[in-house]
Amino acid sequence: MPMHKHTHNEIETLRGAGLKVTDARVAVLSQFIKKPIPLSALEIQQALAPSGSDVVTVYRTLSSFEEAGILRKVDLRREAVYYELASHHHHHIVCTDCGLVEDIEDCDVEILSKKVVSGSKKFSAIKDHALEFFGLCRSCVKR
Ligand SMILES: [Zn+2]
Ligand SMILES: [Zn+2]
Ligand SMILES: [Zn+2]
Repeated sequence: MPMHKHTHNEIETLRGAGLKVTDARVAVLSQFIKKPIPLSALEIQQALAPSGSDVVTVYRTLSSFEEAGILRKVDLRREAVYYELASHHHHHIVCTDCGLVEDIEDCDVEILSKKVVSGSKKFSAIKDHALEFFGLCRSCVKR
């Protein structure tokens, strides 16, 4: 029963983050576990329709997940706000034509961070960073 495993995973994640387990929260979280790509509130609401929550509730759920450290925002340079699981550090490459998003697991920003700090007059430490690359995917570049 693969569904059972998913539910278990979601309940553990919610409890681990100190959030009350509700059907709406489990449903939203399952979307991120099922599709490991950045998702917007509208995309989640549409995926859960017609039985799911309204979009306002989805927005509220997403920001509570962000506050609890389950999700982080990803800047895809789109109008909507996108979120993904905050489980592991990585970056993205985004197709500016069709919107395809690919994860980049390698992170070489450590050296750059040290340079940024040593070159800064006002900062002495870097806590985090976000880095997204924008370009054309292989099928869009052929068009
Ligand atoms: Zn593309
Ligand atoms: Zn990602
Ligand atoms: Zn990085």
